[in-house]
Amino acid sequence: MHASGTAIIALAGVTKRYRRGDDARPALDAVDLSIDRGEIFGVIGESGAGKSTLLQLVNGLTTADAGTVTVAGRDVGGLGRRGLRELRRDIGVVFQGIHLLSNRTVAANVALPLQLAPRAQRQSRQEEARAVAEILEFVGLGHRAHHYPAQLSGGERQRVGLARALVGRPSLLLCDEPTSSLDTTTTAEVLRVLARARDELGTTVVVITHDLDVVKAICDRAALLERGALREVLTVARSDYRSLPSYAEQVRRELQA
Ligand code: ADP
Repeated sequence: MHASGTAIIALAGVTKRYRRGDDARPALDAVDLSIDRGEIFGVIGESGAGKSTLLQLVNGLTTADAGTVTVAGRDVGGLGRRGLRELRRDIGVVFQGIHLLSNRTVAANVALPLQLAPRAQRQSRQEEARAVAEILEFVGLGHRAHHYPAQLSGGERQRVGLARALVGRPSLLLCDEPTSSLDTTTTAEVLRVLARARDELGTTVVVITHDLDVVKAICDRAALLERGALREVLTVARSDYRSLPSYAEQVRRELQA
């Protein structure tokens, strides 16, 4: 189910150690991995397996000690400050427990990335307002534009975070445990947005998660990391985020003998 079959992310022989000359096991060890444009790709593995390190290498937040990381045709390790800034404009990022500015409305939070763009690339205020309104509709929160973060539920806040990550229409969206603090109903809402970002906006989505239900619900393939090594890349037998168990069903399943 790969839309175009061309790689947007390619890691070749990537090794990352956090301390030079450290004899300890590297955080990532000789990893080869390729993620296609248009995929929803899962990264799974136990705590400490190297999942976050992998995302940070793609985003240029850290550099590899060996090997190359290529994103949308750019060698990330060879980019200067300006190149990194351009790369990051093409990458949306969502983390667990998204941070929104509490004194700004939902719309003003979502507008932030547009306002931080270099002057030459800024849109007019009207265009920015339209982009914000469109992406808030897209995540199902058009009616919340003028509310403040404290007035929202956890799931709504996470969708505001998604809107903020998507407002610049990046070709790549990196998500680190985007649903880990949510219940099953709100998880399904967030997953629906991720699936629609791929289907309707053409965004490639990489999602770190420890929740295999999330992988089954939306991922085409998933990489299993084990202590820094890429153990295998699995093709996912998909279920559907719409068939995720309801909270009541889950409670019954988990608690009843
Ligand atoms: P995961 O996201 O799968 O939990 P990480 O990529 O965060 O794994 O970590 C992989 C390994 O690298 C772990 O052993 C972790 O302790 C180590 N590590 C991660 N970040 C740092 C850092 N900034 N400094 C030193 N060690 C780190």
